[in-house]
Parts: sequence; structure tokens; C-alpha cells
Amino acid sequence: MINISIPIVINFSGGKDSSAMLAYICENYPLNPKHVVWADTGWEHDGLDAWNKKLCRIWGLKLITVKPKRDFFTMALDRKMFASPSCRQCTSALKMSPIQKWIRNNLTGEVINAMGIRAEESKARALKSPYVIDSILSKKGRTVWNWLPIFDWSKKEVRDYLVGLGIPLHPVYDYLPRLSCQICIFSNRYNLWAIKKNNPMAIDRVAEVEDEIKFTMFPSGGIIRISRDDNCSLF
Ligand code: SF4
Repeated sequence: MINISIPIVINFSGGKDSSAMLAYICENYPLNPKHVVWADTGWEHDGLDAWNKKLCRIWGLKLITVKPKRDFFTMALDRKMFASPSCRQCTSALKMSPIQKWIRNNLTGEVINAMGIRAEESKARALKSPYVIDSILSKKGRTVWNWLPIFDWSKKEVRDYLVGLGIPLHPVYDYLPRLSCQICIFSNRYNLWAIKKNNPMAIDRVAEVEDEIKFTMFPSGGIIRISRDDNCSLF
């Protein structure tokens, strides 16, 4: 049980898991002060800011938007390479750091830092502890607990919970399994094929940067080639 005086920072992306987490916290911890923080990578789907604000309004909360110094493409242009699954600089620099900075600048004392991570998502995530002290942020009069309130939920439970509350899924779920950056370093060929059909300008944007830095976002080749329909049939 969390003391009602402890503020809860809700790491929010607008995706199904963070939407379910936001709802769960608001329903079960109505009295705790809440700060909904969204890290904008600069490579978000059009209109996501308005979408996220709308979801926060359901619970009478305001969205706090934080931005990194360098966005997704500025980082790729400066480094002359994209982030990759083995070097997830995008997650640390574009998502985690700006939220950590916001916590350092705004909160002292005990703080709960809630994230919508689920064990089912990957083996690495399953190894996480759902409630653990954050040794990086817990300094100088501040103790931060990282909390994963929906850690044990299945994908079906998340979706059923949102349906039960009448909370919509972002339209991107019509063609992709996750709401991430417009094209994520974890996108597979099937995802890229679906993006090409539904958001072709995102493919063109990555292709432009690939040409400029002479480095492809995916090791299997340039994005124009690997997003072609004929490649998708290999799945
Ligand atoms: S959504 Fe994908 S591309 Fe965007 S920051 Fe996260 S891991 Fe990187």
C-alpha cells in the first residue's frame, strides 16, 4: 500500500500499457499527487501530443511533456548512425533521461516512479523487479521507487481493462502491435511493410537520413528495399 502523501510519476507514452497503467493508478490511488510525464522523442506519430492530453483529461490530469536536447534524427545525424537494439541510445537519451531530469528538478522526499512494463513482453523484462529502489535518482534528499504496477498483466488483460473503462486505443494499433516512434529500431519487416502502406512519409524520412549519413537504420539493408511488399511475403 502506498502512503497517500507520496507523489506518483506516471511514465506515459499514449500506448496501451501506459494507458492501462494510468487508469489503474487513478482508480486505485485516487488521493496521491500524480504527475503524468511524456518524453517526446521528436519522432512521434502526428497528433500524439493531443491524443495524450485527451487521455489525461479523462482522469482530470495535465500532461507534462519533456524533450531531449537532441531528437531522434538529430542524434542519428550527429553520430552518423542510428541507435540499434544492441545500443539503445534512443531509449536512454530520448525517453529515460528527460524523465529522470524532470524528477530531479521537481521532486524531493519519497517518490514513486511508475512504468507500464509487463513481464510478458520479453525475457529481459520478465527478470525485472516490480518494485525496486532507483539508485541513480535516490540522492540528495530524494528516494525514488521504480514501480511496475501492471507487471503481471497479460496483453489480453490490458486490452480488456481498457475496453471495460471505455478508453480507446490509438489508431496506430489498427496496423501495428505497438505505439512507438513512427518507425522503431525494433520494427520487423512486417511492421515496416504495414508502415509503408499506412504512413509512407515515415519511410521516406528515414530513407533521406540513411542517404545523408550513409548508414541504414536496419542491418538487413536500406529501408526502401526492406519495406517492399515482396519482402514481406518472406514472413
Ligand atoms: S520507440 Fe523505438 S526508436 Fe523510439 S526511442 Fe523507443 S526503442 Fe528507440
